[in-house]
Amino acid sequence: MTTSNNSQTHEVRFGKQRISFDLEFRDRKRLAISVDPDQTVKVVAPTGRPVEEVLERVQKRAAWIVKQRAYFDQFQPLTPPRRYVAGETHLYLGRQYRLKLIEDEISAVKLVGRFFQVHLPARADSEHVRRLLDGWYLDHARDIFDRRLDACLESARSLGLSAPSIIVRKMAKRWGSCTKAGRILLNIELVKTPLYCIEYVIMHELCHLKVHNHSPQFYRLLARCMPDWEQRKRRLESFVL
Ligand SMILES: [Zn+2]
Repeated sequence: MTTSNNSQTHEVRFGKQRISFDLEFRDRKRLAISVDPDQTVKVVAPTGRPVEEVLERVQKRAAWIVKQRAYFDQFQPLTPPRRYVAGETHLYLGRQYRLKLIEDEISAVKLVGRFFQVHLPARADSEHVRRLLDGWYLDHARDIFDRRLDACLESARSLGLSAPSIIVRKMAKRWGSCTKAGRILLNIELVKTPLYCIEYVIMHELCHLKVHNHSPQFYRLLARCMPDWEQRKRRLESFVL
């Protein structure tokens, strides 16, 4: 067992497999086991629950954990880099849309039914398609993030925050972050996930403007502003772009 801050690492065995997991004790009623897309297993147990009992519970769920891991595993080969060719699917607000390339003098992107209709000149290549789509995503991300920010500010009015500005950019490993100057940075890729998840990331960052770390105080604040944040976070984590 190793310990860091509030969380400890333990292990159970399932057949020949070892399942190691992070155990954290929190002031809550029920024990929760989750498997992240990166295969990490996390267990949150009520404060004071004996470790033996936790191990027993995890042992009982071992088959399920192994199944979850296999489930996430299968996504890896399913997310190849996009090629920007006709028929390929691209996401917007959690839904899949198929690319339809339409020869036209004027370049444009339109969302029609279940299709991304990309109008472009006859000799345009896939790089041209990528640029058009990226531009479309950026326009829509700015608009949607701004509107969701307003909604979040409204439901977290008790925080008394003045509206921060949002900067949309490509980020390799994070959905969002915030600056010391009180700006919120959001990953443009977030516009590919459901509104429900977008709101979670915005609310998370808004709470950071009040509490800059991930202390219990931060999570209390987040839970007050968005009681179902954990479900939203799980949904976001299960999302494969
Ligand atoms: Zn955070």
